[in-house]
Amino acid sequence: MSKNIIIAIDGPAGSGKSTAAKNLAQKLGFTYLDTGAMYRTITYLALRADVVDNCEEVIKIAQSVKLKLQTDNGKTRVFADGEELTEEIRTPEVNSKVSEVSVIPEVRVEMVKIQKALGESSNIVAEGRDVTTVVYPNADIKIFLTASIDERANRRFKEYQAKNENITIEEVKANLEKRDKIDSGREVSPLRKADDAFEFDNTGLTPLDDLDYLLEKIKEVLSSK
Ligand code: C5P
Repeated sequence: MSKNIIIAIDGPAGSGKSTAAKNLAQKLGFTYLDTGAMYRTITYLALRADVVDNCEEVIKIAQSVKLKLQTDNGKTRVFADGEELTEEIRTPEVNSKVSEVSVIPEVRVEMVKIQKALGESSNIVAEGRDVTTVVYPNADIKIFLTASIDERANRRFKEYQAKNENITIEEVKANLEKRDKIDSGREVSPLRKADDAFEFDNTGLTPLDDLDYLLEKIKEVLSSK
């Protein structure tokens, strides 16, 4: 039996990982895995139960909930015990707490278990903060995607504007900086560039530029294997 192909993409918030990973998955016919959506779902459930600052209760949620992710028309839909939470996990409230939930080692253990199993059952394009380093250390292709903080804040701000969220660009930028700091500084599975990942700074580029560049690079790497 031939081994599944795993393309892993890490990078800070707003670097275009989701769009790049979705586009690549669609082009290659692979499964798209948004690992951030999983941490967001646990955070949302903990916020709703009013236990987000209670580590033990958050762990209980992560250990008991049945998560399901599916991609429909390029959009990740998320279900927790059958309840759809696709929109609920993308609010400023979830953004402001998700990095704190993601530092809990027991929560990560549960999420990584699900992510590894997916990588064993299909060809995937996965994106997150530790998919090139911890979840799939043997991924076929590892990409570290970055962009300047101003560009990343602008991208996120436009997404909020499209949803009529009441938030300023300064607040968006402050949230990204806070999350970057926690994600890169945590002890367990910090965001960092894997030694064998190639780095791609897409400041000033469009998603289509990203796709063209990454497809070329992927062809190059796969043909040299
Ligand atoms: O990718 P996204 O911005 O949706 O991720 C939300 C948060 O989830 C990140 O800021 C990070 O704290 C956490 N995360 C993580 N590990 C991953 C994916 C996301 O810790 N693999």
